[in-house]
Amino acid sequence: LKEHNARSLWHPMAHPADSQANPPTIVTGAQGVRITDIDGHEVVDGVGGLWNVNLGFSCQPIKEAIAAQLDQLPYYSIFRGTTNDAVIQLAEELRAFFEPDGLTRAFYTSGGSDSVETALRLARQYHKIRGEAGRVKFLSLKKGYHGTHFGGASVNGNANFRTQYEPLLPGCHHIPAPYTYRNPFGESDPEKLAQLCLSALEDEIAFQGAGTIAAFIMEPILGAGGVIPPHESFMPGVREICSKHGILLIADEVITAFGRTGSWTGSRHWGVQPDLMSTAKAITNGYFPFGAVMIAEHVAEVFEKDETGRAAIGHGYTYSGHPVGAAAALACLSETLRLNVPENAAARGAQLYQGLLTLQEKFDLIGDVRGGHGLMCAIELVSDRAARTPIDKATTNTVQEVAYRSGAMIRISGPNIILSPPLVLTAEDVDVILAALDAGLAAAR
Ligand code: PMP
Repeated sequence: LKEHNARSLWHPMAHPADSQANPPTIVTGAQGVRITDIDGHEVVDGVGGLWNVNLGFSCQPIKEAIAAQLDQLPYYSIFRGTTNDAVIQLAEELRAFFEPDGLTRAFYTSGGSDSVETALRLARQYHKIRGEAGRVKFLSLKKGYHGTHFGGASVNGNANFRTQYEPLLPGCHHIPAPYTYRNPFGESDPEKLAQLCLSALEDEIAFQGAGTIAAFIMEPILGAGGVIPPHESFMPGVREICSKHGILLIADEVITAFGRTGSWTGSRHWGVQPDLMSTAKAITNGYFPFGAVMIAEHVAEVFEKDETGRAAIGHGYTYSGHPVGAAAALACLSETLRLNVPENAAARGAQLYQGLLTLQEKFDLIGDVRGGHGLMCAIELVSDRAARTPIDKATTNTVQEVAYRSGAMIRISGPNIILSPPLVLTAEDVDVILAALDAGLAAAR
C-alpha cells in the first residue's frame, strides 16, 4: 500500500515526492477519540481529524441519519426551485443556533474554502446592490488562513499559500495580526498590541479609501497560522471600525463555530456580531463534506428587498445543500447541543493549556505557548529561546514521530505544534497527549 501511495497519490499541502521519502501512516480505523494504523499503533487524535471531528469518530446518530437519508433522498440539487426536507430543517436549526450572532439565513456550500469564497462574493454583491460598486477590496490579517480558492488564497495572510499561485485577486491587503510573540511593533502586551493592530487597520483603510473596501475577513482566533488568540478588545474593535466605515465584517469560523473555543461560536466568545460567517468542518463532525455561510438579517434584507434584479445570486455549487450532508449536519448539531460540547472544550482546553505551560518549564525548545480558549492550543518551537530562533523542520518532525509512537497524533505547522483534539475527550486523554508530547520533545532536545 505504501508503495502504491507513493506511486499514484499526491497529498494536499505536501511536496509530491514527500510520500516517497517518508512512508505515510496508513490509517485503518477510528473509534472514539482514537485512530489506528496499519502498523498496529492506536493513538489519541490530538488533531481531531483536521479541527473538525468535534464529537469523536463513533457518533452513531450521525451515522444513522446519513443511512436514513441515503434511503430516502440520496441527492437532489436545490437549484431551479427544488428543495427538500433535510435542507429546510437544517436552515431552521442553523437559524436558531446562530440567532445570538444575529445570523438568520443559510447559504450552503461543500466545505470551508467554498464558504469563504461565497462570503467574499456575497460581500461584493451586497455593495453593488446598494449602489457602491466601487467597494471591491478585501482586508484580512497576516497569519490568517482562509482556504484555497483564488478569493480565499488572496486574503490568506501567509505568503507561503499565495506566492505559487500569483497573480491572485487584486485589492487584497493584510494587516499585522495580534501575535504577541512576534510582531512588527515589538509589543508583547496583548492589550497594547491589539490597539496597535487596530490602528494599523484604520491606517490601511485610510490609505486604500474606505469607499473601496468591501469586507474585512478574520478568524476570531487564528487557527492554522499557529493558534493566535487576540486580546478580548481586538474583535470588538474590528467590529466598531468596520461599522464606522460601512465595511462588512466576515467572521471565518470554519474552525471556531460549534464549540471549539469553549463558546458556541468564536464571534460570541468575543461578544461580536459579524455580518457574514463562513462555517464548515465540525458542521458534520467530518462525516460529510459540507458548509454554510450564515448571513445577518440586515445583509439579507438588502438582497431580498432589491427590485432591480441585481440581487439574483450568480453563485452556487452542485453540492450546495447536499441532502445527505444536511442530514448529517442536523444530527451533528443536535448531538453538539445535547452534549453541550463547549463546557468540556473549556475544561479540557484549560487542562491542556496548563500542561503545555508546565512542559515549557521543562523544555527550552518551547518558545511560546498559546491557548486558554477551549481546545485550540499551540506551542511554538525555537532553537534558541532568548533569540526566538525558529526551529528547523527536522526537529519538529522528530517531535511528531516520537509523539506518535508514544500515543498521540499531533500536527506540525511550520515551527508550531498545533493541538485541536475532539471536544469530547477525557482528562485521561489529555494526559496521554501531554505525555506523548513530553516524549517527543525529550527526543528532540
Ligand atoms: N477557513 C479556515 C479558518 C480554515 O481553517 C480552513 C481549513 N483549515 C478553511 C477556511 C478552508 O476549509 P476547507 O479546507 O474545508 O476548504
